[in-house]
Amino acid sequence: MKKTKIVATLGLVSETKGTIKKMIESGMNVARLNFSHGDFAWHERVIKIIRDLEKKMDVPVGILADLQGPRIRIANDEEISISPKETVLVMEGSGKAPSSGQSKKVILIDLPKIVSLVNVGNEILIEDGLLKLRVVKKARKALECVVVDGGAVKPRKGVNIPGISGKLGALTEQDKKVLKFAIKHDVDYVGISFVRNAKEIQDLKRLINRYSAGKSVAQVVAKIERREAVQNFASILKATDAVMVARGDLGVEMPQTELPLIQKDLISKCLRSAKPVIVATQMMDSMIRNPRPTRAEVSDVSNAVIDHTDAVMLSGESASGKYPVEAVRIMAEIIEKTEKSNFDDLPHGFLEDKQSSISAAVAQSAHELAKDSKAKAIIVASVSGFTARMIARHRADQSVFVVTNNRKTQNQMALVRGVESYLLPECKTMDELIGKAMNLLKSKKALRRGDKVIVVAGRPHVKKEHMSLVKVEEIA
Ligand code: PGA
Ligand code: MN
Repeated sequence: MKKTKIVATLGLVSETKGTIKKMIESGMNVARLNFSHGDFAWHERVIKIIRDLEKKMDVPVGILADLQGPRIRIANDEEISISPKETVLVMEGSGKAPSSGQSKKVILIDLPKIVSLVNVGNEILIEDGLLKLRVVKKARKALECVVVDGGAVKPRKGVNIPGISGKLGALTEQDKKVLKFAIKHDVDYVGISFVRNAKEIQDLKRLINRYSAGKSVAQVVAKIERREAVQNFASILKATDAVMVARGDLGVEMPQTELPLIQKDLISKCLRSAKPVIVATQMMDSMIRNPRPTRAEVSDVSNAVIDHTDAVMLSGESASGKYPVEAVRIMAEIIEKTEKSNFDDLPHGFLEDKQSSISAAVAQSAHELAKDSKAKAIIVASVSGFTARMIARHRADQSVFVVTNNRKTQNQMALVRGVESYLLPECKTMDELIGKAMNLLKSKKALRRGDKVIVVAGRPHVKKEHMSLVKVEEIA
């Protein structure tokens, strides 16, 4: 079975029970709901389908609610065509473009105060940077821009203006409404778009806590898609639960030629702090139209696995393309083949461990013991999932089975590389816990009689004992 996880965005081509079931069977571990699209009724329906399938198929599926953030968009009601070197006007507003009186075309953008926020010299990029304008003059109500890269300016397409993001906070009023809805529907993770710093993550966590009123709590995925986020990554990583290398917007806000290196750097930092990381956007882009990916796309997925990512993501491929199920299936096939090789193994010393914590040391010894004793699997008893993540970051070849008494933890493990999670009610003693865990895994056919396993209990979910334990056992 593959170890690297697949996050697939759901959309109009993947909204039915039949299709979502096939996607889970093909290797989707986490369903991403993109709240830039669809109304609450649509999302509610899809969440219900996923939860039903989880029960029927007896497999945890994580749900990631992705908040749109301060995304700015083209707000003209009709498409207009612009050519290189042409001068156009950019204004705040939406609907029908007003006549400029100077026969210049007018592009409307739904960003309040755009004229005062943007300066001469700034670039305005449209549709992932496909079209590019440069601001040459500022008037009271309009920005005069020269077209660098032309084409069709289509309604609702995204706009990036690198350099002004410092002035736009990550959580909008609309995001707060979505967050309330998402928490009410008990999602497992919340994605925060265009995050700039750790404080924005802490603010989001406070809101999540408030909206969930003590219930088990959704984790935060920090989408790294702004220059500030790359610069502030160390503190963002401390504050967040998980990370997304959001290459779509990041490749517009920063030179896209730097993306592969940023990807490697962010993944290695996530790995060292044992926080799951997703590589996102355009991994199989051509599969929106074609039944097979390009060679470059196959390499991209494989190389993300070799970079040791926890998960790879599909966006348009699974949400609006012609081949949503095939995209998941082929992605899973690439992952499996890559993981069979030695190229994805963690080089010795990669984690740069200073053995600063007891849990790091316990996880390390479990990993070494599993290797040396040729154990089949590592079984981890974990309440919050922390010990499981500490073990998963060693990127072992053995299976890592997590038993937890927390339903949310079970689902959140869907994002962690190489981890399969199971629900086990609370036990009174350590022996009872170990016995029940082994029986459970045997009954699920994850393990067989005679299999050697390493058992780890970090903060064990037994009532009295509080100890860190690593033990070799055999399935009876
Ligand atoms: P998005 O985020 O698809 O919500 O824009 C991912 C990205 O920017 O890569
Ligand atoms: Mn984005």
